[in-house]
Amino acid sequence: MEPFTIQQATDASAAIQAVNATPGSKYIAGGTNLVDLMKMYVETPAVLVNINNLQLNQVEALPHSGVRIGALVRNSDLAYHPLIEKRYPVLLQALLSGASPQLRNMATTGGNILQRTRCPYFFDVSFPCNKRTPGSGCSAIKGYNRSNAILGGSDHCIATHPSDMCVAMAALDAGIRLKGPDGERVVPFTDFHLLPGDTPEKETVLKPGELITAVDLPPLHHAAKSHYLKVRDRASYEFALASAAVVLDMEDGQIRSGRIALGGVGTKPWRAVKAESLLKGRPSEELFGAAALAALEDAKAQTYNGFKIELAKRTLIRALAIAGGIA
Ligand SMILES: Cc1cc2nc3c(=O)[nH]c(=O)nc-3n(C[C@H](O)[C@H](O)[C@H](O)COP(=O)(O)OP(=O)(O)OC[C@H]3O[C@@H](n4cnc5c(N)ncnc54)[C@H](O)[C@@H]3O)c2cc1C
Ligand code: SF4
Repeated sequence: MEPFTIQQATDASAAIQAVNATPGSKYIAGGTNLVDLMKMYVETPAVLVNINNLQLNQVEALPHSGVRIGALVRNSDLAYHPLIEKRYPVLLQALLSGASPQLRNMATTGGNILQRTRCPYFFDVSFPCNKRTPGSGCSAIKGYNRSNAILGGSDHCIATHPSDMCVAMAALDAGIRLKGPDGERVVPFTDFHLLPGDTPEKETVLKPGELITAVDLPPLHHAAKSHYLKVRDRASYEFALASAAVVLDMEDGQIRSGRIALGGVGTKPWRAVKAESLLKGRPSEELFGAAALAALEDAKAQTYNGFKIELAKRTLIRALAIAGGIA
C-alpha cells in the first residue's frame, strides 16, 4: 500500500472541502472496496477523508410513501429496515444476496453504488487495463472473460458492474442525491453510471469532489409484487453471473406494467426498457419468454461468457414468474 494520510470530517461541507483541497483525495466509508484496491495498488489516494461521522445514516419516510436512504446507511441496516421490508422487498432481497453478513455490516449505500468492477485484470496491476490505465489496452477481451459483461461493452472495456443493490435501485427508479462544490443535485439512478465507450475510466457522472448524500426511492405501491433473483457459482459470498430485479404492477391477475433490471451481465446496472414494454396482460411463460428475448437481444458474447446469454434469460423468466405468481 502507498503511504496516505487520513482526515476526519464531521459534516458534508467540510468533507467536500477536504477532498477538493488535495488532488487524488478520496472519501472513505465502509472501506470494504477501497482498502482492497489500495492493498493491490489499484487505487493510490494520498489522502482519505473519513466520512463515517457525517449524519447520513438515517432511513426516513418521505411524504407520499417514498423513502430516503442516507449514504452511510449500512447494507445490513437497510435490508432489515421495516420501511424497506414492507415497501421494497426487491431491495431487501438484493441486499441480502450480496457479499457476506460481515461485509454488509460495513458496506454503505454510497460505497456500494461506487464499488468498482471485479474484472480480474483490473485488480492485477501487472496486466494492461484501460479502466485502470487509460490507453493501455483491455486484457479481458482476448483473455479469460467468463465473468465479464455481455451488455453495454465496447472495444475498450467489457467490465461487469458488480453490485446487487444497484440492480434493485435501477428497477425502482431511485434518485441519487449529490452534494458538491457547486451545490446539490439529484441524478436518476439509470443515468448515474456510464457505459465504458472509449473512456472506461470514467464510470459515473459524479463531478470532482461530489459526495453522495442519499438515495431517494419513489412511492411505488405495487413494489410488493417484485423479486430479485441472483445466480452465481456458489450460494453465498459470490458475485452474480446473472441476476434480475423485477417489479410488476398488477390488477385482477393482469400485468399493467413492469420494470426489469439485470445484474452480472451489464457494464452498468442494466435496465431492460424494451423488454418492459412487452410486459402487459396475463402472466405466462410465453409472455416472460418474449420479454427475456428482448432483454438479451443486444447481448454480445466473448470467448468464455456466451453461457451468460441463456443464463440471464432463464434468470429473468424465473424472477418474472415468481413476481407474477405463476411459480
Ligand atoms: C469478498 C467480497 C465480496 C463481495 N460480494 C458482493 C456481492 O455479492 N454483491 C455486491 O453487490 N457487492 C459485493 N461486494 C462489494 C461490497 O458491497 C462493496 O465493497 C461495498 O458495498 C462498498 O461500500 P463501502 O462503504 O465499504 O465503500 P468504500 O470501500 O468505503 O468506498 C468505495 C468507493 O466509494 C467512494 N465513496 C464511498 N462513499 C461515498 C459517498 N457517500 N460519496 C462519494 N463517494 C463515496 C469511495 O471513495 C470509494 O471510491 C463484495 C465485497 C467483497 C470484499
Ligand atoms: S474489461 Fe475493463 S476492467 Fe477488465 S481489463 Fe478490460 S478495460 Fe480493464
